[in-house]
Amino acid sequence: MDIYREKEACCGCGACVDICPAGAVRMVQDREGFYYPEVDGSACTECGKCRRVCPVKARKAAPGHNLYFGAQAKEDEIRYSGSSGGIFTILSQFVIEQGGSVYGAGYRENMKVAHREAKNKEQLEQIKKTKYVQSNLKGIYVRIERELKEDKWVLFCGTPCQAQALLQFLNGTYQKLILVDLVCYGVPSPGVWKDYVEYLEKKHKGKMTDFVFRDKRNADQGHTCSYQIGNKEYTDSIYRNIFCRMYFKNYILRPACHSCRFCTVNRNSDFTIGDFWGVERIRPDMEDGMGTSVVIVHTDPGRRIWNEVKEELKWFECKRQDILQPRLLEPTARAKGRRIFWMLYRRMPFWMIGRLTGR
Ligand SMILES: Cc1cc2nc3c(=O)[nH]c(=O)nc-3n(C[C@H](O)[C@H](O)[C@H](O)COP(=O)(O)OP(=O)(O)OC[C@H]3O[C@@H](n4cnc5c(N)ncnc54)[C@H](O)[C@@H]3O)c2cc1C
Ligand code: SF4
Ligand code: SF4
Ligand code: SF4
Repeated sequence: MDIYREKEACCGCGACVDICPAGAVRMVQDREGFYYPEVDGSACTECGKCRRVCPVKARKAAPGHNLYFGAQAKEDEIRYSGSSGGIFTILSQFVIEQGGSVYGAGYRENMKVAHREAKNKEQLEQIKKTKYVQSNLKGIYVRIERELKEDKWVLFCGTPCQAQALLQFLNGTYQKLILVDLVCYGVPSPGVWKDYVEYLEKKHKGKMTDFVFRDKRNADQGHTCSYQIGNKEYTDSIYRNIFCRMYFKNYILRPACHSCRFCTVNRNSDFTIGDFWGVERIRPDMEDGMGTSVVIVHTDPGRRIWNEVKEELKWFECKRQDILQPRLLEPTARAKGRRIFWMLYRRMPFWMIGRLTGR
């Protein structure tokens, strides 16, 4: 039983693991450090559920009646604690006030990135901010379904392939689900992230406890990153940082990201959120280097929630062409030297990797 044919056809959402009634699917890491499903043929009953849940095989979302906004949380603390304008926190607070749960990406032991649940403002702090690493969703689909069946509010925020996988896993409509997906450049390898964390821990002789990919202290749209090892904090530019350079030069993205079908304005989620690129052209008065969110509202439930929360935001409505950026039009191109990069990556010590990516 093959769930996917080639690597480009698996985004690693892990929904096939959660849905398998026989427990026959597990995720196994490949040589690039990405996880792919592997089926235990002796346990598989050929029920076909794993194929049906796969978001890569789903029909593309039809063009809908979208609304387009630029938004900043009015409260500076909320905006500065998010990677763009803080819309994720505003939507999440609405759900928490209804007694519901928010699911987003946070750090677990050894800085592994995985989705987790937040039921209050303290837990929400743990899942704020962009992590440029593929997040693990093991067990999350099952938990969300359980909470929705108990008639609780749930907000899920993740990459568009994860959001589509959740929709297919649930296979039904839930009034209290708010589905939020991201404008998505692509996800880097969890294996390279692990190597990078170990490299830094060795270099600075301590345990890493936090890494902020979009630190706003320099009012530079979050183009600074910072990390904590032991009691010391370190900062870097995302253009100089080895891991970010490997990411933005497209060497360490998941193969499926280079042919991603979700790099479009049309989605099946309620909201798509991202950075408002070019806000200085449309609303120069709002550009201060501290981030503005782009918000696309796709559905009627999304429009109702937007009306509930918009008082918490400084916002403006705009046209489709105002919000377009490359990742809403086409997938990120594969680096020309990707194959050679990986050949060398496996042979070289980590400290030499920076040289492969240039300056
Ligand atoms: C891998 C990745 C690539 C992105 N590429 C683009 C891009 O090309 N263009 C663009 O405009 N915006 C992109 N974004 C989105 C942008 O960086 C912000 O995350 C988004 O605008 C939300 O910002 P915020 O201030 O509202 O909230 P934040 O507090 O920054 O949002 C946090 C939430 O984002 C989600 N998230 C964070 N990391 C991950 C992850 N690794 N996997 C799944 N979900 C995650 C989680 O649910 C998390 O709780 C990307 C995000 C990620 C994670
Ligand atoms: S076909 Fe059914 S039993 Fe077999 S791996 Fe897929 S979901 Fe599991
Ligand atoms: S369901 Fe997700 S993890 Fe499983 S094959 Fe499809 S894309 Fe890959
Ligand atoms: S680029 Fe596409 S396939 Fe890759 S993580 Fe984003 S949505 Fe998923």
